[in-house]
Amino acid sequence: KLFCCTEGNRISMSEITKLTLVELTKKIKSKELSALEAANAYVSRIKKSKKLNTFVTETLEQALASAKNIDDNNLKSGVLAGAPIAVKDLFCTKNVQTTASSKILKNFIPPYESTVTSKLWDSGAILLGKLNCDEFAMGSSNETSAYGNVINPYQESGENLVPGGSSGGCSSAVSANLTSSTVGTDTGGSIRQPASFTGIVGLKPTYGRCSRWGIVAFASSLDQAGPMTKDVSDSALMLDVISGYDEKDSTSANIEKGDFLNSLNKNIKGLKVGIPKEYIVDNMPKEIQTLWDKGIEWMKESGAIIKNISLPNTKYALPTYYIVAPAEASSNLARYDGVKYGFRAPGKDLIEMYENTRAEGFGNEVKRRIMIGTYVLSSGYYDAYYLKAQQVRRLIKNDFDLAFKEVDTILTPTTPSSAFKIGDKTNDPISMYLNDVFTVPVNLAGLPAISIPAGFDDSGLPLGLQLIGKSFDEQTILNSAYALEEKISFKSKVIDWWI
Ligand code: GLN
Repeated sequence: KLFCCTEGNRISMSEITKLTLVELTKKIKSKELSALEAANAYVSRIKKSKKLNTFVTETLEQALASAKNIDDNNLKSGVLAGAPIAVKDLFCTKNVQTTASSKILKNFIPPYESTVTSKLWDSGAILLGKLNCDEFAMGSSNETSAYGNVINPYQESGENLVPGGSSGGCSSAVSANLTSSTVGTDTGGSIRQPASFTGIVGLKPTYGRCSRWGIVAFASSLDQAGPMTKDVSDSALMLDVISGYDEKDSTSANIEKGDFLNSLNKNIKGLKVGIPKEYIVDNMPKEIQTLWDKGIEWMKESGAIIKNISLPNTKYALPTYYIVAPAEASSNLARYDGVKYGFRAPGKDLIEMYENTRAEGFGNEVKRRIMIGTYVLSSGYYDAYYLKAQQVRRLIKNDFDLAFKEVDTILTPTTPSSAFKIGDKTNDPISMYLNDVFTVPVNLAGLPAISIPAGFDDSGLPLGLQLIGKSFDEQTILNSAYALEEKISFKSKVIDWWI
């Protein structure tokens, strides 16, 4: 059935999956579209899109049953009523396999639901399945997943490209219209960088804005969940749903909840926008600089005031991140020992069982991080590395605090390049880590930042611009992004080559 059958209003299945989340939920509420028609459209598209390898687990039959239940019982009061949504496989979902794209958590079925995802279902959204990501969210290309790499719906001269990472299944799925929107996590850029690589909007909220409860932990002082969507309005709507204080997460901020979608306003006249000179990095492609310059022009046209600023400690952000994040990861991942969760490899005694389980259960990138993390936390090196990194982290935060006395938001490119070919950086971790130069400082400082699609490079690949905000001032970056979005009027160039 190619068309859905709402009287007088024929809308094709592919049109349905192109709708933004705001449009889709409106149509379902007004009964222009039934929840089942919406679910059907997504389910049939997902079935035809296996080549992209976006899903680790599909819950398509359950999704159709939930949609029918919504229609039959007219359960349309929630803001996301009937919206089919797949989520990153890092969120624990009750009775649905949650692997963190690892072998060690294969077959792990959580008996509980993460706070963020339970907020989605409480608002009426329907789970389509769990999206592929880098193993334990460690990576920038989705190539470290134990379930194979995800493919970007954008190609370069017919060649497959990475969708970014670690939320690469999320970015690819939104870009290819396989989910109406999604939630990812961002520890050092994992929402914004893949959003930039696939031409979608990715928002990393302020640390503490969304509960981390029930999310498989990578680096607890940096991890934050956030929306990945087709446009800025959808991002605001999703943030409305998933944010809020949670007593189950001790780092959750007990502050007033925003009303992001209703407060969305593209009037940014007089807004002060900072341009940090330290973000001009060596070997940055000309197209990225050109796009950044355009972004500045667009902001000016919208009435914003541009100010040059300095964030002098930016150059230390990557090395600092690659000490703090592995340190926390090595501690968080200590729990996967073959006893409590998932995979176990036998051994002649307990110690050998631990060793075999971890040796066979973890992939190379995860092992690399555990080793680095254990090293920098060891008594002989703690002061030289971990403690030093904590001190530099404070300096990076201070840079932002000082800058935000002068400006309301900071505009930068999201990534130093567009999507690259699968395999291009696999053997060069440093060049892989360099992908995060523009995103990592934000996590170290705990700030909110949004990436929006802003144009294409010479090969027709999407490029993103990033807006960084003050702590808990997501509204300002959403408004600025909303204003920019109108100027840019980005049109997806995805063609369904994989179907
Ligand atoms: N690419 C970064 C890393 O590999 C960030 C990952 C993330 O944000 N989860 O650590």
